[in-house]
Amino acid sequence: MKIERVTPFLVDGFLLVRVYTDEGIVGTGEAGLWAHHKTVYQTILELSEYYVGKDPAHIEHHFQVVSRNSHFMGAAISAAVSAIDVALWDILGKSVNLPVYQLLGGKCRDKVKVFNNVGGDTLDERAESAIQNVEEGYISLRTTPFFSDWEKGTSTQAITTAVEIVRTIREAVGDGIDIGLEIHRNLTPDEAIILAGELAPFRILYYEDPIAPQSIEALEYVAQHVHIPIATGERFYNIQQFKELIDKKTVSLIRPDVSLAGGITHCKKIAALAEASFVGIFPHLMGSPVNLAAFVQLDAAIPNFFAHESHTGADAFNEIVDHPLERDGGYVIVPDRPGIGLDLNEEKLAKFPYQSRQITGSFHADGSVAH
Ligand SMILES: [Mg+2]
Repeated sequence: MKIERVTPFLVDGFLLVRVYTDEGIVGTGEAGLWAHHKTVYQTILELSEYYVGKDPAHIEHHFQVVSRNSHFMGAAISAAVSAIDVALWDILGKSVNLPVYQLLGGKCRDKVKVFNNVGGDTLDERAESAIQNVEEGYISLRTTPFFSDWEKGTSTQAITTAVEIVRTIREAVGDGIDIGLEIHRNLTPDEAIILAGELAPFRILYYEDPIAPQSIEALEYVAQHVHIPIATGERFYNIQQFKELIDKKTVSLIRPDVSLAGGITHCKKIAALAEASFVGIFPHLMGSPVNLAAFVQLDAAIPNFFAHESHTGADAFNEIVDHPLERDGGYVIVPDRPGIGLDLNEEKLAKFPYQSRQITGSFHADGSVAH
């Protein structure tokens, strides 16, 4: 079998890729550098010159050749390689009529745990949102413990409000539900430490991205002073970055994104690296129904999967695929169809023209950049 062409598609807020073969099998993948889809679109076109004419089954070899070519590395190249890598796994699975998870060693689970977000701009709204999620079957909740425009206020106010939000949610759902916190890289190291100390009574499952990701030393400092397990890694794109996080004992959970951190090929290795240190895999999931399907194949095949986004926002785009994944309360069912378990309805894509993302920023009261 040979690859005939590699074609990217900009669809609403997503970047999809299809890899076509001379035997009629087509693989589908998705790129996850969501702030720079047009850059990755061009990167896929450039990389396609390498892939055309190659055997799609040499997945690891292609990953090595393309990702190490001339040693210019970065998130854009990694996102492009990730999307094509998933499409190659999809082709391999469809060519032998097996799901990708079977090619990775088989299922470790029949369904994949997902969390849902608790939102609202008042304490009452947060409580209502939390209760509604539990009624829908979620046993794992996540919230960002700030209200809109919180960055316009003081640091003291932000920490006070965060504690009130977490207390409200814990009291609303009781002690049997998991609650994780998503800080979105918005605190300084000292704010992160002070807030974590205040949150000790509420049994928080994880503290996601308490600070900006550029300094592992700063995260190490935070990790040494907080007693909530830290989760991070959604902006990281290679195994070496994850190894450093794990080796420095900064994290309990890592968030590799299959559509950014090297596809199924690389993320399977990242998962094994984490497994050796008892670190859980908490994949970072955004994108279309294609991404959900790709992630679930890996989730099923690794022992240390933790949970990921419920991704219900992608349901509005289910018509672009032939077999959207099914949910069961706080879980997504692992499908048994070949490849990643679905195919793209190309004729539906024109219904969702590309929505480019604007750079907006958020600001303190004095006009300076907040995050
Ligand atoms: Mg996050």
